[in-house]
Amino acid sequence: MSKKDYYDVLGVQRGASDDDLKKAYRKLAMKYHPDRNSDDPNASEKFKEASEAYEVLSDSTKRNAYDQFGHDGVDPSGFGGGGSQGFNDIFGDIFGDIFGGGDPFGRRQRSNKGSDLQYSMTINLEDAVRGVTEKIAIPALESCGSCKGTGASEGSKPVTCDTCGGAGQVRMQQGFFSVAQTCSRCSGSGQIISNPCRACRGQGRIEKRKTLSVKIPAGVDTGDRIRLSGEGEAGLNGGPSGDLFVQIKVLPHDVFERDGKHLYCEAPISFIDAALGGEIQIPTLEGKVKIKIPEGTQTGKLFRLRGKGITPIRGGSTGDLLCRAVIETPQNLSRQQKDLLKEFQTSTSNNSKQNPLREEWFSKVKSFFDTKT
Ligand SMILES: [Zn+2]
Ligand SMILES: [Zn+2]
Repeated sequence: MSKKDYYDVLGVQRGASDDDLKKAYRKLAMKYHPDRNSDDPNASEKFKEASEAYEVLSDSTKRNAYDQFGHDGVDPSGFGGGGSQGFNDIFGDIFGDIFGGGDPFGRRQRSNKGSDLQYSMTINLEDAVRGVTEKIAIPALESCGSCKGTGASEGSKPVTCDTCGGAGQVRMQQGFFSVAQTCSRCSGSGQIISNPCRACRGQGRIEKRKTLSVKIPAGVDTGDRIRLSGEGEAGLNGGPSGDLFVQIKVLPHDVFERDGKHLYCEAPISFIDAALGGEIQIPTLEGKVKIKIPEGTQTGKLFRLRGKGITPIRGGSTGDLLCRAVIETPQNLSRQQKDLLKEFQTSTSNNSKQNPLREEWFSKVKSFFDTKT
């Protein structure tokens, strides 16, 4: 992300008119255009710099923000990174008329590359934590076997387009500029198919379902993407295949809740165990483990089992399992049990040390009402 002053980049005064900005930008764009500077790696950087400066200054809202707050005033996420709307606007606006719509970064060949595919995969938590290999069937365009991807029927061959001589582009003189335009006869492929292959109707590719084995690494989480290079759609005219992106979604689990590398669960504990102390079994992803419950355990107490969480996919220490105690009040008591509890109640009613929470709460409530009246 460049921090150079946008006006300096374009070489204009701060008060420059929209017209001056456009002229200055055109001049720089012509000079540093990657098509004309294929042997100068700095040109593309300069070109991007100028494009960024022009994108901001040509938009009155962004220009105002930049004039007031400098680089902090304009959203940097609009540049360089994925899919900048602004860049496209500029290409349409300026390159549309200067360069005949060609991509200034020299990505013409892209039209031959197969599309990327996305596949949504839903897995359970256990598989996400341990890793798993899944077979998936995806619809994909594959190179046509009948014509070996050429699109021309058996016995015939695509012939070189005589309009562009096979280049896919025609150059024309327009004012001072030499303009490259996509050849309209062959749509940029450089070849003409007079006798198209029947199997693929001249496309060179046919749709087939293919089965792939996808290795899901241990530790993945919802939102992670696994890229399978070259497993997308086949390219056109022998162009490279696109990529396949497997988008992971991890299903909710009955027992565990996941938060990054840590796991949470709740364990109901009988009020007897909670009062007297005891031992309970806690589930982990590797099986049950026993833990000790201390005397007088309250609801909400967290038992931490170190290293029983998830090992993050991008490295780092394994998370913990946190188990929250929930004290269960007994239900459906028999008459005899009720009598026992009543007896127990009488024995505790005058001992404030046995229910410190309740004592504290009552005294807070009391002082709250006392100050009100
Ligand atoms: Zn074919
Ligand atoms: Zn042509």
